Amino acid sequence: MTRRGKKLRLCYHFSMNEEFSGAEAALLEWYVAAGADEAIGDAPVDRFAPRPAPRKPPASTSSAPLRPAPSPPQSPAPALRSREANVQTARETAAAAATLAELRAAFEAFDGCPLKATATNFVFADGRPGVPLMLVGEAPGADEDREGLPFVGAAGRLLDRMLEAIGIAREDAYISNIVPWRPPGNRNPTDSEIAACLPFVERHIELAAPQILVPIGGVSAKALLRSREGILRLRGRWLIYRPPEGEPMTARALLHPAYLLRQPAQKKLAWRDLLEIRDRLDAN
Ligand code: URA
Repeated sequence: MTRRGKKLRLCYHFSMNEEFSGAEAALLEWYVAAGADEAIGDAPVDRFAPRPAPRKPPASTSSAPLRPAPSPPQSPAPALRSREANVQTARETAAAAATLAELRAAFEAFDGCPLKATATNFVFADGRPGVPLMLVGEAPGADEDREGLPFVGAAGRLLDRMLEAIGIAREDAYISNIVPWRPPGNRNPTDSEIAACLPFVERHIELAAPQILVPIGGVSAKALLRSREGILRLRGRWLIYRPPEGEPMTARALLHPAYLLRQPAQKKLAWRDLLEIRDRLDAN
């Protein structure tokens, strides 16, 4: 979404009118810069409207003591269940999926990751499953959330060019993320959000069965390789991805294209990793 597009969505909460004073426009700029770039309701809310007076309880007609009405039994909201319960549900659900189509449907229906509540779209994967190279990024951003596909924004366009540089068209790779729902304001997914989604991602990798797994960026590399090391230490060498089920797999961590857009001088490091990946694919 363009910056103006973001502004207009936000403005909806202030006014139905798209004309702003300088002060309103500056306030909206500030909200967008702070990451508040998503509407949370379809109708504007007038916070200054007078509120109805609170209703008085009816005068008691009997001398019986007032007891609070019993509340109906409630099961906890999925996102409020314990992290362990969410992970366990994710493991069982993911393991039961026999195909990528089943996994996609089960993951989309999974309620154990609170990011689902704020995202617009579920972002599962793009490209061709079954090809030798599978790349796993961090999380959808605003563009991906809108289109329902991974890596379609500025970072995605750079990723496409990086792959093309080693002779791989986007359609000939398979691309996914560690979490399929956009974290609000593009923050990093939390450990609990990653933990809830990881069983699905691990099953995703198992079913896609690539020759080489490429975690993109530190969040993905740390989660998949179960490492505490940063991406600048993890990249530059061949690694082993050890899934909870199934065979270990060759992995090569790559600097995130969003990072490379901010630090173009580091592109040479990514280029070295890409050439190593090309050589390994050719040798297989
Ligand atoms: N960054 C990611 O890590 N994944 C996407 O899908 C887009 C941007």
